[in-house]
Amino acid sequence: MTHNLGFPRIGHKRALKFALEKYWKDERSAEELVQSAAEVRASNWRLQHEAGLDLVPVGDFSLYDHVLDTSMMLGHVPARFKPDDELPRLDRYFRLARGRSRSGTPVQPAEMTKWFDTNYHYLVPEFEESTTFSLDASRLLSEMEEARTGGVRAKPVVLGPVSYLFLGKAKESGLDKLAFLEQLLDQYEKLLSQLQAHGVEWVQIDEPILALDLETRWQEAFRTAYGKLGSCGINLLLTTYFGPVRENLPLVLELPVAGLHLDAVRGAEDVDRIVREYPKDRVLSLGAIDGRNIWKADLEQILDWLEPIYADRGENLWLAPSCSLLHVPVDLDLETRMNPEIADWLAFGKQKLIELRVLDRALTEGRTAVSAELTENRTARERRRSSSRITDSAVQNRLRSIDDSMKKRQSPYPARAKKQHQHLQLPLFPTTTIGSFPQTAEIRKARRAYRKGDMHRETYEQLMAGQIEHAVRQQEEAGLDVLVHGEAERNDMVEHFGEQLSGYAFTEHGWVQSYGSRCVKPPIVFGDVSRPEPMTVKWISYAQSLTEKPVKGMLTGPMTMMQWAFVRDDQARSTTARQIALALRDEVRDLEAAGISVIQVDEPAMREGLPLRRDDWPPYLSYAVEAFRIATSSVRDETQIHTHMCYAEFNDIIESIADLDADVITIETSRSDMELLEAFTDFEYPNEIGPGVYDIHSPNIPDVGTMADLVKKAATRIPSERLWINPDCGLKTRTWDEVKPSLRNMVEAARSLRGASERAAAG
Ligand code: GLN
Ligand code: ZN
Repeated sequence: MTHNLGFPRIGHKRALKFALEKYWKDERSAEELVQSAAEVRASNWRLQHEAGLDLVPVGDFSLYDHVLDTSMMLGHVPARFKPDDELPRLDRYFRLARGRSRSGTPVQPAEMTKWFDTNYHYLVPEFEESTTFSLDASRLLSEMEEARTGGVRAKPVVLGPVSYLFLGKAKESGLDKLAFLEQLLDQYEKLLSQLQAHGVEWVQIDEPILALDLETRWQEAFRTAYGKLGSCGINLLLTTYFGPVRENLPLVLELPVAGLHLDAVRGAEDVDRIVREYPKDRVLSLGAIDGRNIWKADLEQILDWLEPIYADRGENLWLAPSCSLLHVPVDLDLETRMNPEIADWLAFGKQKLIELRVLDRALTEGRTAVSAELTENRTARERRRSSSRITDSAVQNRLRSIDDSMKKRQSPYPARAKKQHQHLQLPLFPTTTIGSFPQTAEIRKARRAYRKGDMHRETYEQLMAGQIEHAVRQQEEAGLDVLVHGEAERNDMVEHFGEQLSGYAFTEHGWVQSYGSRCVKPPIVFGDVSRPEPMTVKWISYAQSLTEKPVKGMLTGPMTMMQWAFVRDDQARSTTARQIALALRDEVRDLEAAGISVIQVDEPAMREGLPLRRDDWPPYLSYAVEAFRIATSSVRDETQIHTHMCYAEFNDIIESIADLDADVITIETSRSDMELLEAFTDFEYPNEIGPGVYDIHSPNIPDVGTMADLVKKAATRIPSERLWINPDCGLKTRTWDEVKPSLRNMVEAARSLRGASERAAAG
């Protein structure tokens, strides 16, 4: 029996994205949007049905986000959206998601945060004292009808109550989310009975938090919840993914549900025990095909361990991908321009379902029934293993040559700092930015035209040079101390480097949803990574040639290069990280040789990539730190290394952040009113820090006083001599009209603080 947990919603060639954006711009009616969405669903179901699935998910589709859909279904809407009750349903929905829609005034949208360790973002349910629920399952029920009319054997998918609560946020301090459990369960009971009345047999109830470290009270919540829902008379398939359930396994075994789905890829360590202990009269669904990566599965190897389980459990063994296919691109068949040798190694959403079907037939009809498919799968994997594109002996040799001396700067920070200050001659409270400047329509148009071959290289380069010069002049005018070139030539901070490194491949249509209508196209790291030629030296040196002020070189760090890509599965991630680090090391060295004295290596995704279980943190952090240090430690003491992270909630990893031994770290703090600096109260961060004072996510222009006050707050925790003044993040999404006055104010704030501290010193 095969089934699927969820399918990408963005549709063929991002159909849903375009429909949504046209609706938001008032270029499409609500009816047209609803129609486009129905077409995406219908084509997803058709595709899954044709791939031979026995049960197809319904309710996994979403116009924006499935957690938001759950909130809507539960009638759980924060108080500030109550005035919306009169608005059409679609507008209420988009106002929650985006803070605005075609009707109603702008409002602060629900907070968005990363879905586990993926790059997908969900909208955080908010729990307030006044929170109530009132079920409206009409959307799910009508999609069930829709699927049935389409002749699909449908299985509704819902986010389970315990995970829903856990992933939400208590808006008032002292409010215990678990206090809402009982009320929530009443809604779920109603939901299940409505589904049952519709003739539904199985419901997939997702509880992915079972793959997290859970406190006892949350484990207890599972007992309460499923004690109640398990006896509703409908079959529940309790579904977990993204990792092993480990010590939650006894709990999982105890819950009175009709079936259980486990992630047998990331949670492979659980399989033996589950198979031993899980009752045979219940359904066990094993997620044997990786829903998080894009490589062809090793079907014969999977069959080796599945066959005995099937022999034992027969029809009560179900097969599925490890998690929803939301996190992989839709269809490899669209990649007509990809190198066929590499395409041969890959499986996207559709191809994964085909793999699943082959596994199922091998189990039920015997391997001989699918011997052609199995042979093809084996030979494709052999072709991959033996491909000359994958191994680069020079990279391998270099990996072996890594020693501790490559991971250490010449002198410790205090000695370096002295030399850097002498060399750079920066004032107290030096000012800088995070790297990018506004990506104007002109820049984006030029880049597109150049890529398509519609613009000559020279014309393009002239244009970029003009943009860089403009950025430099603007920064000089604003009075900044350490300048940047502005990143006009980069469309994406990972793709830009991936395109210049060996071992990377790119897709044409390999889109994956990041949030709402936003999709990303992660590159594929398939082989040993090396850097054939300098990647950034030309533009950074050009920028430096235009000014007396130091220009900061700008690179993307190894962990971010991996986190926002599909990474090879034939070697440890730590090895891939080291290879990328070596390539960056060459770039850092070349930048330094070209006279660049400040080099920033961004690691915005380092925290997002943290393993879900604390037990797994130390090895991850250890290679993350090692990779950063390999990339950055070759430089002289005088060269200042910066890093940037788009968050500051690193209380729990602050020691590793300090271990990076960057001379300066810039972080995001302005929105939290410097509260995020809490980590720095207990742990004395030894080097320099730039806590962001300018919230770049908002079009607002921050005033001098507000920014100066933020720095003063920061100065209560970090000595002034080690404070930098900068925005929260890059400025690429802003306009010059916003950026110019904001930076002028920021510099003004720095000057006022310098004046104050000189007066204090003199007095
Ligand atoms: N240097 C990058 C920029 O300024 C950093 C982006 C990021 O932190 N996500 O855009
Ligand atoms: Zn950032």
